[in-house]
Amino acid sequence: MGTMTDIDFTPLKGLKFNCLEGCGFCCSFPAEVREWEKNFQVILEKDAGAFRKWDDGHPCLDGIYTFKQHNDRGACIFLNENKRCDIYDIRALLCRTFPVKFFFGWRLQLYPSMSCRGFSEDECSDMVHLGKEVMAEIPADRINKMLDESKAMYSSLPERIANYVPPEILQKLLLEYVDKMVFEPWNISEASIAEFEAELSSGKFIDLPTYLTEDLEWQVFKLEDGFVRRILLNRTGETENIDRIVYSNLSVKTFSSEALETISRYLRLLASTDHFIGVVYHKAIEQKADGNQLSDMAISEFEKVKEIFHLKASLLAEFEKWEHVNEKTVEDAIVLYDGYLATLPAFGMIL
Ligand code: SF4
Ligand code: SF4
Repeated sequence: MGTMTDIDFTPLKGLKFNCLEGCGFCCSFPAEVREWEKNFQVILEKDAGAFRKWDDGHPCLDGIYTFKQHNDRGACIFLNENKRCDIYDIRALLCRTFPVKFFFGWRLQLYPSMSCRGFSEDECSDMVHLGKEVMAEIPADRINKMLDESKAMYSSLPERIANYVPPEILQKLLLEYVDKMVFEPWNISEASIAEFEAELSSGKFIDLPTYLTEDLEWQVFKLEDGFVRRILLNRTGETENIDRIVYSNLSVKTFSSEALETISRYLRLLASTDHFIGVVYHKAIEQKADGNQLSDMAISEFEKVKEIFHLKASLLAEFEKWEHVNEKTVEDAIVLYDGYLATLPAFGMIL
């Protein structure tokens, strides 16, 4: 049975949050809703046509639905003209909890989605407190069941993965690695560049890198015909090209020293999420990585995260016509990078 000691709130510590009026960015991602949620039946009775099954086909996504989007690519169909939720009182659990996300692994961990711009120093909700409210929203028997299942899965990993390393050790290793990381523009690997280009070239709007500006505009970036276009996306899915850069002119840029501090803080947060470690185990199982040290694999995956972050920060700086990546660009790049993570299934046992 799960107890409070199985729940880790550490990544939420020190953060404060206040939802921004007129933002609605988190409603631009397909909102997940689960059959066991207390509002599932209520919403179903109100509008059965609003549900869509995740089309991924992964068994972990059984019993998980999303709400349809306006014209298939805009915001959730319940987001009205004033960017307010039409079913606010009965909205899905994840709609209530964003930007708190959670992951069931060898324990249950709560962590923030940094794609949200509502973090602030002002008088506002403490994220750990909010995390505890999130936990109170999920039926205790449900938490225990999911935690028991995910723990059982994690305890089978030493048999399934050659050169198994426990998650706590991997996390410690990654955190030490972040402290030693260097950001050299000339060192970005071909594999990271290919992944960056693939992400930017996706035909589906929902898969493109999403971004929330300081003015709370929703934007996506798309690589097409040799240009990277910055595109405004509105609630109903209409788009408008704002500007563009020639892709071949995009150079990988150096960071200012303040920028380096900000990015290290963010990467440290990512390294301490159980979600990232889950991804590493998932890959190790898929690739049957015999001979490869799991710790090396974790580091190379993390290096890719760093490189793609570097490319995205350079992209934003290029649009701003800045020669270097400054602190402000890094803060924006965090929103852009995490906007991509926010579109992935938000919680679960991904193994
Ligand atoms: S992204 Fe953050 S600030 Fe914007 S609506 Fe969602 S929770 Fe509020
Ligand atoms: S149900 Fe409401 S809160 Fe949830 S994504 Fe849709 S509009 Fe946003």
